[in-house]
Amino acid sequence: MPIKYKIGNSILKLIAGDITRQDTEAIVNAANKQLSPGGGVSGAIHRAAGPKLWEECKTLGGCNTGEAKLTRGYNLKAKYVIHTVGPVYSSSADDPVHLRDCYKNSLLLASRKNIKSISFPSISTGVFGYPVKEASIIALKTITDFLKEHPEIELVKMVLFSEGDYNIYKSSLEKILKD
Ligand code: ADP
Repeated sequence: MPIKYKIGNSILKLIAGDITRQDTEAIVNAANKQLSPGGGVSGAIHRAAGPKLWEECKTLGGCNTGEAKLTRGYNLKAKYVIHTVGPVYSSSADDPVHLRDCYKNSLLLASRKNIKSISFPSISTGVFGYPVKEASIIALKTITDFLKEHPEIELVKMVLFSEGDYNIYKSSLEKILKD
């Protein structure tokens, strides 16, 4: 069951689903530094967007951890893809900083490009190994703090690929909103 929260003037939705099917103006890709298709959510986004996405990605000169870069969405419903590279989990103090940068820089890029709705996957919690509960708190705290200051972003969807991840994100969000 999707849930919807009002944060300032914006809406934050949590849903269990497939990010490639979302109709927000932009979807975020949990990319690798080469911005190559790879597997996981990135492979799924490239498959759904078609080969032109990789052609455009090749022109961008890669992407550092925590940065965000914009491309068109090609065959996706979303007009744009925002590519961001999450940290490979290493239990170091840099991990939460880099993960926060992914969400923040993606939202800042959306705001600069006048994009009003955006969907995120759970960055770094697949192959990159970030524990989901820790990552969910960083993701949701960064998004809610940003929305309080940026009413120009009207809708953020957090798209979780499993019911288990969805339940973890839901309880983290309830905790954050209570504090
Ligand atoms: P990372 O390398 O950043 O860990 P992954 O793609 O391995 O990225 O995983 C990130 C998250 O995306 C995982 O929770 C994974 O289950 C999820 N995921 C995979 N495919 C999709 C999809 N089509 N839509 C939404 N989330 C997805």
